[in-house]
Amino acid sequence: MPRESRSAKRERLAAILDRLKGAYPDAKVGLDYTTPFELLIATILSAQCTDERVNIVTVGLFEKYRSPQDYLAVPQEELEEDIRPTGFFRNKAKNIQACCRELIDRFGGRVPNTMDELTSLPGVGRKTANCVLSNCWNIPGITVDTHVTRISNLLKLVDTTDAVKIEYALMDLVDQTRWNELNHLFITHGRRTCIARRPQCTICPIAPLCPSA
Ligand code: SF4
Repeated sequence: MPRESRSAKRERLAAILDRLKGAYPDAKVGLDYTTPFELLIATILSAQCTDERVNIVTVGLFEKYRSPQDYLAVPQEELEEDIRPTGFFRNKAKNIQACCRELIDRFGGRVPNTMDELTSLPGVGRKTANCVLSNCWNIPGITVDTHVTRISNLLKLVDTTDAVKIEYALMDLVDQTRWNELNHLFITHGRRTCIARRPQCTICPIAPLCPSA
């Protein structure tokens, strides 16, 4: 099969996003939150865990812990128990408390709104930072999670599982004004149709544009 040019890929991706937008007009971030701080905590918890499970845990968690100070007012073991269902709870509790300490010491208890500042926090990588920046401040960014990784490869837009390479490749293939939209559409598509290990190609709205159909 001839190698697809960058401009052809850009055109195909734009058409894919149009179709996905038609199929999922309600696409939005899957995590429940009301403030940037809550989304930051929820995104840290979502590593290796479904959004549905995180949302169940955060109902009680956000009642009990409302500020960075609240997370530091309990022993790590208590926080571990509160987040246990999200998995990797020891590491996550340690990171959340370290992150809250930094928020207080360096940012006056507020969540910063730049990539550099966010990724300087313990437990916060580009995926978490992009998620917070795009959803809370509408700052364009591509959040590369498991769905975006899988779908970008199935669509042959990229040929790598390296999250940073995928992020930059997609940024090059779609206009900046659509970066945030791409996040929501790919993630929703990954949950509802292009499901891991059992993609529903026969009912997929982008099958005519997908080389893996
Ligand atoms: S056609 Fe199949 S593999 Fe391609 S995006 Fe749709 S569900 Fe995924």
